[in-house]
Amino acid sequence: MEELIIKETIEPLGKETLRAALKINGTVRSYFSTFLRSIGYLEIPPVIYSTATDPLNHPVFDTTFEYYGRKYSITKSMIFHKQIAVQHLDKIFTFSPNVRLETADKASTGRHLSEFTQIDIECLRATRDDMISLAEDMISGIVAEVEEKNYHELLSLKRTLNIPRKPFLRIKYKDALGKYGKNFENVLSAKMSDPFWIIDIPINEREFYDREDPNNAGYLLDMDLIYPEGFGEAISGGEREFEINKILQRVSLKGQSPDQFKWFIEAASRGLLPSAGFGIGIERLVRYLCGFPKIEMVTPFPKVPGKYSI
Ligand code: ASP
Ligand code: MG
Repeated sequence: MEELIIKETIEPLGKETLRAALKINGTVRSYFSTFLRSIGYLEIPPVIYSTATDPLNHPVFDTTFEYYGRKYSITKSMIFHKQIAVQHLDKIFTFSPNVRLETADKASTGRHLSEFTQIDIECLRATRDDMISLAEDMISGIVAEVEEKNYHELLSLKRTLNIPRKPFLRIKYKDALGKYGKNFENVLSAKMSDPFWIIDIPINEREFYDREDPNNAGYLLDMDLIYPEGFGEAISGGEREFEINKILQRVSLKGQSPDQFKWFIEAASRGLLPSAGFGIGIERLVRYLCGFPKIEMVTPFPKVPGKYSI
């Protein structure tokens, strides 16, 4: 267990910047829900704890607990619930609170909170291209909406935004790595003035649920959206593994046990239709729209990794 760092955090309460951020947060939530409903998406309530949650591809502290002799985990993402719910509901979204007890080295990235909300989207029979197109509509749409609805807040924050135009640039992971090295995400994010996609991420860089490209073994049919101006990662998503044999193979490739995801594996064994989806971190989006140096400025009670928080 790492030592807890008790340092002063930025105190957002009492700052005018917080009021502006919360107004923009309100615009984000109402715009996304109205827009998604208008194109046939159904909102499902969030899942706060369950027997199976996202294994993630990086280490975080454990959040499992026992309740009447059964083990549960606090939600790291609703990925499995999305994939199962969409089998019956076709097109879904949720504002999902996630707890990821990140390590203290993430405290100064400016974009990590150990408790945050993502708008999580999933669509039955959709492809990665469909989801890229939807995400581009949402990102362009929210920038335009905030420019209109939050003119005064943007003025007070001295923030100017460009409405990004479809299609956003797509860069293959392999090419970005070859050209800019391991830190390509930050380097590219700082260089760019519009959001861009990183696609075709290698299989070992992501969780087992992102679908391996049947025409490009070892690479995934997934995508990450990166904000420009150094704001970093915005979205991750992709097509899902849906065939049980493939799912089990990918779980074992990760050195994980199917028992860890029991209810999901059982549901997948009964047969799944293909789906695709993505998640947009709401606090990261609001931070980008506000142009803040630190994500903790957007929320009244931020949970900064490694720091004591109320
Ligand atoms: N919600 C997912 C995650 O946190 C993103 C996705 O839909 O793939 O990884
Ligand atoms: Mg993921």
